[in-house]
Amino acid sequence: METKLQKLKTRLIEINDLESAAALLSWDQSTYMSPGGAAARARQLATLGQLSHEKFTDPAIGKLLEDLRPYEESLPYDSDEASLIRVTRRNYERSVKVPPSFVAQLSSHTSQTYEVWAQARPANDFAKVQPYLEKTLDLSRQLADFFPGYEHVADPLIDFHDYGMKASTLRTLFAELRQQLVPLVQAITAHPAADDSCLHQTFPEAQQWAFGLEIVKRFGYDFERGRQDKTPHPFTTKFSIGDVRITTRVKENDLGEALFGTLHEAGHALYEQGVRKDFEGTPLAQGTSSGVHESQSRLWENLVGRSRGFWKFFYPKLQAVFPDQLGSVSLDTFYRAINKVQPSLIRTDADEVTYNLHVMLRFDFELALLEGRLAVRDLPEAWRERFKADLGIVPPDDRDGVLQDVHWYDGIVGGAFQGYTLGNVLNAQFFETALAAHPEIPAEIEEGEFGTLHSWLKENIYQHGSKYTATELIERVTGGPMSIEPYIRYLRTKYAELYKL
Ligand code: ZN
Repeated sequence: METKLQKLKTRLIEINDLESAAALLSWDQSTYMSPGGAAARARQLATLGQLSHEKFTDPAIGKLLEDLRPYEESLPYDSDEASLIRVTRRNYERSVKVPPSFVAQLSSHTSQTYEVWAQARPANDFAKVQPYLEKTLDLSRQLADFFPGYEHVADPLIDFHDYGMKASTLRTLFAELRQQLVPLVQAITAHPAADDSCLHQTFPEAQQWAFGLEIVKRFGYDFERGRQDKTPHPFTTKFSIGDVRITTRVKENDLGEALFGTLHEAGHALYEQGVRKDFEGTPLAQGTSSGVHESQSRLWENLVGRSRGFWKFFYPKLQAVFPDQLGSVSLDTFYRAINKVQPSLIRTDADEVTYNLHVMLRFDFELALLEGRLAVRDLPEAWRERFKADLGIVPPDDRDGVLQDVHWYDGIVGGAFQGYTLGNVLNAQFFETALAAHPEIPAEIEEGEFGTLHSWLKENIYQHGSKYTATELIERVTGGPMSIEPYIRYLRTKYAELYKL
C-alpha cells in the first residue's frame, strides 16, 4: 500500500509542478511581462492548464485512489496519509464530474465576457454585458447540476471556494451579522466622519515601500522564501513552500493603499509559508478555504495592523520616515484616520465595518439569481435599492454599482464572495482564541513583537494546510462552531471607543 501511496504522491507532485509553472507565468504576466506577450502567455497558460487537468483526471489516479481506500480506512482520520488520500479524492471527484467539453465552453465564455465587461464598465453600459451575464448564470446552474443531490443550487459552487459551507448556513449567519451591523453602521455614521486628510498628502513611493517591508519582516514573513513586487491588482502567489510571493500597489497620495495592502497580502503569505514542509507538492500544501485564507490576511491587516497598540510602536517610526507630512499629526488623529468608517460605493475601498454589507448584498443576489427570483436585467435596479437600504447611498451609475467587481464577469455566478465575510468573522474568532491562550500578545504587539502570535497561528492553523476542512479546523482551534460573537465584540469595543457610542 505504501508503494501505491508513493505512486500517487509522485503523480500529484508532477501535476503540482505544472500548476506552479503556470502560477509563475501568471505572476510574471501581472508584474513584469511586456504587453506584447499577452496573446502567447494566454495560450501558454491554457496549454499548462489543460495538461494538468488531463493528468489529474487520468483514470489511473481514480484507480490508485480506489486501491488505497482500504488502507485509508485502516488509518486514523487525521493521519497525514489518510488526509492526503481523502483530500485528493475530494478534488478528483470534483474534477471528473465536469466534462472537459463543458470546462472548455465555460472558459471560452468567461474570457469573452471579461473582454465585454472591460469595455462595458468604463462606458457604464450594463446592457452590453447583460446577455453575457445571462449566459454565465445559465452555465453556473449547469455547473451546479453536475453535482446532483445538493440542498441549494449554490452549494456546489460555494464548495469550490469554501468546502462544506452551505447556502442555508451562510444565509443564517449573514442574517444575524446584518442584524448587528446595520445599527452599528447607523450609530457610527450619526457622528461626523473621522478626518483622514493626513493620509492624503504626498508620500514618496520608495519610503512607503521600505516601511511596509519592515513591518511584514517583523510579522515573520520570510524574505528568503518570498519577495514583493508591484502590480495593478495586489495578490499573493505560491510556487512552492519555499517561494511565496506578495505584490502591492503604491499610491503616492494615499498612504493606506500600499501599507495595508502589503500587510494583507503578507497575512496570506504567512499562511502559505507556514504549511508543513513535508506536504510540499501535494494537495495538502495550501490554505484550506477562501474564508480561512481571508481570516489570516485580515487578522494581520486589521486586528493587528489597524490596532492602537500596533501604532504605539510603529507610529513614531512612520513619523520619522515622513516628518514633514506626519510630524505634527498626533497618534490619535492617525489612528482615527486609518479606522474611518463611511458608507462608500466600492467594496474594495470599504472600511472594516461596512465591508460586510457589500459582501452580503452580492451573496444574496447570487442566491436570488441562481434561484430565478431575480432576473439579470433587473440587477442594476435591485443593486441601487439594496444599497440605499443598507448603506444609505445610491450609486450614481452602474460603473460603480453592479459593474464594479470582476468576479461575475470572469467566472461564474455563485460562491465568489462569501469568503471575504467568513474571513472577517473567523479572524476575530481565531484571534480571541489566541489571546485566551496567550494574554501577553497585545503587550507584545505594543513592542513590535509578533513571535507569540505568529507561532500560535503556525501551530494551530498554518502548518495543517488543507488537512482539515474549514469546519474541522474551526472546531479544533476554537473548540466550537463558527460564531459571529467574537467579531461583533471586536467591532463594538473598538468603534464604541473611537466614536464614543
Ligand atoms: Zn485577501
